[in-house]
Amino acid sequence: MSVATMNIMAERCYIGLGANLTEPVAQLKRAVAALALLPATQLRQVSQFYSSKPMGPQDQPDYVNAVAAIDTVLTPQQLLAALQKIEQQQGRERKAERWGPRTLYFDILLYGQLQLNTPQLTLPHYGMKVREFVLYPLAELSPALQLPDGTTLTNLLSQVPLNGLQPLPLEAHSALCDRAQADS
Ligand code: ATP
Ligand code: CA
Repeated sequence: MSVATMNIMAERCYIGLGANLTEPVAQLKRAVAALALLPATQLRQVSQFYSSKPMGPQDQPDYVNAVAAIDTVLTPQQLLAALQKIEQQQGRERKAERWGPRTLYFDILLYGQLQLNTPQLTLPHYGMKVREFVLYPLAELSPALQLPDGTTLTNLLSQVPLNGLQPLPLEAHSALCDRAQADS
């Protein structure tokens, strides 16, 4: 498929990334590099990397989080499968405990303005409206963003405190982000 065709048909998607095991910054850098290699997809932007407090069980390390913007012609199901494959390649183990520690996760936050509710996939992501480690990085990429239900990111940010969220030093992610900006 030509790039011109892809631009017409591609959907803008926002992907949440997080890691809190085995050198989380390195995990996120690898994850961003893997996003850039997804088929039928262009990586457009990557937020700063942030340090955040874990959800759920507190006896686990802080997370490193970021949000990436991609344009893709993959279907939502194809995108989820591709992201889960990268999670596995980076050593993600799924355990019974909810919100336990992990080497890498991806959440599909938004797939264009699509609203979907299937056993495998809920879009927008069900937790995105209340998670500071999603909303603040997302605002870096698209401050005027509106969700399919009409909620604005500005309104969500006014209701969700930082809860200790902190940007990490720029060198943690800069090289990959420069590349994404240059490609877009
Ligand atoms: P949370 O879903 O609250 O972030 P978790 O990260 O511990 O919790 P996962 O094991 O990553 O949960 O995801 C469980 C399942 O959620 C996945 O296997 C996937 O099928 C489903 N899922 C539903 N909607 C989405 C979405 N928008 N993005 C990613 N996964 C989703
Ligand atoms: Ca998840």
